[in-house]
Amino acid sequence: MAGLYVHVPFCARACPYCDFDFQVGRRPDAVAFIAGLGCELAARKDMSPETGVIPPGDAWPTVYLGGGTPSLLGVDGLRALAAFIAANFPGAGRGPGSEYTVEVNPEHGDPALFAAIAGFGGTRVSLGVQTLDPHGLAALGRVHSRTRALAALSDARSAGLDISADLIVGWPGQTLASLRADVTAIVDSGARHVSIYGLTIEAGTPWETLVRRGKRRLPDPEHQTDLLLAAGEALCAAGLEHYEVASYAAPGQRARHNLGYWTWRDYLGLGPSAHSAVYADDGSVIRRGNRRGLGPWSADPGIAGELDPQAPLAAAAEGLWTGLRHLPGLDLAAFLARFPAVDRAWIAARTLRQVARGNLELGDACLRVAPGRWLWHDSIAADLLA
Ligand code: SF4
Repeated sequence: MAGLYVHVPFCARACPYCDFDFQVGRRPDAVAFIAGLGCELAARKDMSPETGVIPPGDAWPTVYLGGGTPSLLGVDGLRALAAFIAANFPGAGRGPGSEYTVEVNPEHGDPALFAAIAGFGGTRVSLGVQTLDPHGLAALGRVHSRTRALAALSDARSAGLDISADLIVGWPGQTLASLRADVTAIVDSGARHVSIYGLTIEAGTPWETLVRRGKRRLPDPEHQTDLLLAAGEALCAAGLEHYEVASYAAPGQRARHNLGYWTWRDYLGLGPSAHSAVYADDGSVIRRGNRRGLGPWSADPGIAGELDPQAPLAAAAEGLWTGLRHLPGLDLAAFLARFPAVDRAWIAARTLRQVARGNLELGDACLRVAPGRWLWHDSIAADLLA
């Protein structure tokens, strides 16, 4: 089984904090982009797993259309992309236990778009709400309004789609009260899955330039921590469970596609900058990154930008890191089945220091980040990888 990801590299305009791979333009050429995906697929079909290609004949329980802004393709473009996927990955994202997610920006989220997504088999939308506070939307350079975002939530729910909403915390001037109000409003409007991201200043973004010139301050880490904790409290009070470092879900609403990453499932990424990973029986893994940028990728979509083969022990160490993002814990039996080069003694030795510090809990069946220590996931993981 493998997850399928397609990176749609178009945005109407650039948000000043974003370092994702996208091209700005109001009219993306969906036909040319889908033709490029076809070329990429044709080139990669002939490759072996050693080049980061999923073996043919795999099952595809989850599909994720991300970006960029997939919803900028509009109804016709999204339908064409879905038809391409259905033709090349029969049954992908369909059937019991499957999931088919489309990222939608609120300014595009109207009844016609959501009806189209549901019509081609989409089950879930990920809405880039970020905040409902007008000051926050202006600070983040977003084009949608609070009213538009709430309407999109309502329209997606009316179309029968599961809804995930993204929130950013740490934008200039954000208060705990504003954040709590955002959480309440989006949960009341139908979001049953919420992902919370702390604002970071990424290299090469307009905000990084402003910070360097002293025209914008870095987010205050202590305030950002307070915001993350306040958001978590509000979401749990609303009945969502904190199940992944950055994610909260109502019962039955955990993100299945992302769960594949945290449980070491193969995945295939198509489109500019998309990543793939293929695990071998010995636990080694080939990671493949596509060329970044629509232009370089379009020039030869079948060529990898980077290949990152990992030997079994290195892959197992990274497997601990990804697996620990899932807060209920890492299933030790599944881990050892995926990474047969290591054993329980290796896990115990590798985690000894963090267990002694009270950051990890190691039981007979499960390894997990100790309750309340999720904020330190990155430093715990860095220690495990060292
Ligand atoms: S945050 Fe989303 S909409 Fe904004 S530039 Fe990045 S990918 Fe595009």
